[in-house]
Amino acid sequence: MPANPRFRRVVRIGPVQVATYYDGRGREMHTAACTAPRCGFSADYDSRAAAELSARTHRCVAR
Ligand SMILES: [Zn+2]
Repeated sequence: MPANPRFRRVVRIGPVQVATYYDGRGREMHTAACTAPRCGFSADYDSRAAAELSARTHRCVAR
């Protein structure tokens, strides 16, 4: 995975990584993305708590 300096506060919860970034308009956004191959789960949220909750409850299809 190439490093992306726009992402901040990256944490891993199980296979899912949660990160905070600023979109093109300078708004703070939060994303949860599964790193497992063949899964492909990723989602954006406007709240960090929502992104972390999504990561914790993610049921990975690739397991
Ligand atoms: Zn997954």
